[in-house]
Amino acid sequence: MKLSEAMALGRVLLKPKAMFLTDGCALGMALTAIGVKIEKPCFIEEPTIQWPWLKKFCNRPCSCGGLYFSYTQAIAHVFDCHVMSKMWNQQWTMDQLIDWIKSVEPAEEPKRRKKNDHPSNASGRTTKAIPLQI
Ligand SMILES: [Zn+2]
Repeated sequence: MKLSEAMALGRVLLKPKAMFLTDGCALGMALTAIGVKIEKPCFIEEPTIQWPWLKKFCNRPCSCGGLYFSYTQAIAHVFDCHVMSKMWNQQWTMDQLIDWIKSVEPAEEPKRRKKNDHPSNASGRTTKAIPLQI
């Protein structure tokens, strides 16, 4: 799942909170949406495992200054400082943040599994349902 999609989903699931990598922050919401449990809040590697492009450096999308940030830091900064608070008098909405992510994130890699999934191989085999033990 793309980060922008995960974030759009996560914002519905969770109440936004301005703390990096808690279950309510922008990236935390995205991780929760794809089923990653945040065990170490503020563990900056977690989102980059899912979306390696976050490690790349970028210019800040806002007009706070010309410092170079990684995408992880830029997203956390915009969320904490512009979406959740009115710092720098520059208010962003969650939609603007997601739109920005959409404009910078790479296209999702094509699923390679499809290639081996030849229709003629589809002999009566069905996926076994694994019973959930509750
Ligand atoms: Zn800013």
